[in-house]
This record gives sequence, C-alpha cells and structure tokens, in this order.
Amino acid sequence: MSGRRHGLVIAIDGPSGAGKSTVAGQLAQRLGYRKIDTGAMYRAMAWLIDRAGIDPADVEELERLCSAAEIRLDCPNDVQRVFANGEDVTELIRTPAMSLMTSRISALKPVREAMLRAQRLMGQGGGVVLEGRDIGTVVFPDAEVKFYLFASPEERGRRRFAELAGKGEQVTQEETVAEVARRDLQDSERDLAPLRQADDAIAIDSSAIGIEEVLGIMEAAIREKISSTESVT
Ligand code: C5P
Repeated sequence: MSGRRHGLVIAIDGPSGAGKSTVAGQLAQRLGYRKIDTGAMYRAMAWLIDRAGIDPADVEELERLCSAAEIRLDCPNDVQRVFANGEDVTELIRTPAMSLMTSRISALKPVREAMLRAQRLMGQGGGVVLEGRDIGTVVFPDAEVKFYLFASPEERGRRRFAELAGKGEQVTQEETVAEVARRDLQDSERDLAPLRQADDAIAIDSSAIGIEEVLGIMEAAIREKISSTESVT
C-alpha cells in the first residue's frame, strides 16, 4: 500500500460548482475514509476574520488570528458541521457574500500557511479524501490519487444557483453565474497556490455526466492504484 497508516490520500481539486463536495462525500463513504472539505476551512477562517473586524492588510494581526484559530470539521450522522473557535458556523459560511470574502482572504499568506499546516496534519496518516483548490499541487503533492473535477462555467453557475435557491437565498441566476466567474478568476490568478490542475491529476469533466459516472471513474482509478502498489510491494 502507500505506507500511510490509514490508507491513501485522495485529492480532488477544481473550481466551485464542479460537484467536488458531493463526490468527495460519497467517495469517502464508499472507501470508509474521512472527507476533508478544505473550502469549509477557508470559509470558517474568513468568518473569523470578518467577525474580528481585522483589516486583511494588517499582516501582524492576521498572523495572530490565523495561528491561534481552531477550525474543526465534525461529521455526526454523515452531515458535516464546521466549527470556528468552538462556534458552529456551518450555515453562516455558505452565503454568497461569504464565498467572495473567502476567495479574497484565501489569497493571503498567513491564512494559507495556517490552513496548509492544519490540512497536512489532518491528512498525513492517509484514509482521507481532501477536496479543494490546491490539494494535489501544494498540500499533498505526493497524494496517491489526484483528480481535477471541472465543468463548463454555465453548468457550474446553474448548479450553484439551484443550490442557493434551494436554501432560500434571495439570488438570481445571473448574479450567481457572475459570483462563480469572479471566484474562478480570483482563485486561479492569485500568486499563492492558485487553482490549477496538477500534472499527474486525472481530469474529469462533469458538465454532461452524472455523479454515479464520476464516482465510477474515480473508483476505477483508485482500485487500479491500489492493485499496482500492492503488486510492487
Ligand atoms: O470549495 P469552496 O467553494 O467552499 O471554497 C471557498 C473558497 O475557499 C474558494 O473560492 C477558494 O478561494 C478557497 N479555497 C482555497 N483553497 C482550497 C479550498 C478553498 O483557496 N484548498
């Protein structure tokens, strides 16, 4: 196997609305692995920064807050809950305004350094499916299996709109498509750990295929990886 105690490290990166979260949850369940939603961790950090009223340009204050922040992902009954310094922020971090704020603060060095440390600690023993933007490129460049899940901007905007409208958010499809496009731009053009496909990632376009099909492709790749490493050792 991989030499990690609890199994493989599986990385799923890609832009928002590509279906990463759903797929990562189902994959983790099927494998008996833990899902680590790194976007939720950045969102929780954005919430802490916002609530503390810190000016993101104040590096010292930001460093202090980030290094003391305690962000926890709990999964009772398979439903993820997110805690920031002990406070349940699960719903609070999912608004469109929080999405944009998260994308802005996640370009900052103190934020990325704190998240990188926390995510490596959570995943280093293996048995994890991590989803985010920089897992296969920065957090776990040595992940045993990497996927890059994407879809057309129109399809991602449509899915995100359906998700927000389903939760009762007062947004239009036009606004949602614009928010997704802005985040894409911010996430892929920042200097630190920008969103990009790792050279050794398997790219999957989810525009026209369903979750089951995506999961099928992923499971086949993981099985192949497991059997090839077993035959080497
Ligand atoms: O995945 P989600 O849409 O919840 O992520 C929210 C934001 O967090 C992203 O738009 C991105 O700016 C940031 N993020 C990141 N690196 C990750 C995961 C998320 O910069 N690994």
